[in-house]
Amino acid sequence: MTSTMAVAPCGAAPGRACGSCTLCCKVYALPALEKPPGAWCVHCAPGRGCKIHDAAPEPCRRFFCLWMSDGKLGEAWRPDRAKFVLSIFPPNRFVYGQVDPGSPGHWRKEPYYSGLRSLARTLLDERRHVIMFLGDEATLVMPDEATPLGKMTSADQFRIEPAFGPKGPSWRATRV
Ligand code: SF4
Ligand code: SF4
Repeated sequence: MTSTMAVAPCGAAPGRACGSCTLCCKVYALPALEKPPGAWCVHCAPGRGCKIHDAAPEPCRRFFCLWMSDGKLGEAWRPDRAKFVLSIFPPNRFVYGQVDPGSPGHWRKEPYYSGLRSLARTLLDERRHVIMFLGDEATLVMPDEATPLGKMTSADQFRIEPAFGPKGPSWRATRV
């Protein structure tokens, strides 16, 4: 499932620390603990950290969100402030965002929506994309707009095509 913590081979950027952020302990499913997505892990002290840190399952100990690994992302993008966790999904190197169900529309506010569309433009040259997930409801973020994809897992594929409409050139996403 896309809402499961996906571990990318990266570490923390110099000087980066989670601080009072604990959002990954809420938004992702953790099968090892039968933890559902979108609910706090029973071992989490929200805003303080993991109560079983050294005994936490391996995916937890190896997980670094994109804010942790990319020092260029500013403080506003710390997940507990942004209300979503960005990570790189290793199989396709897409950027996946897992949204806090307590603030489902926050990613569409600024500076996030512009920033995500700008990131989408940068990734397009590498045929990579930005997908935001609210549970398993996926939205593809493109440079000009965001397109709902419906329910989606990491096994699903989709096709991106240029489209032309009343507002000029755009993009169309089709699940295949
Ligand atoms: S979402 Fe990122 S910054 Fe927040 S606790 Fe998890 S790894 Fe740390
Ligand atoms: S075990 Fe610890 S690090 Fe893992 S989700 Fe639970 S609180 Fe977070």
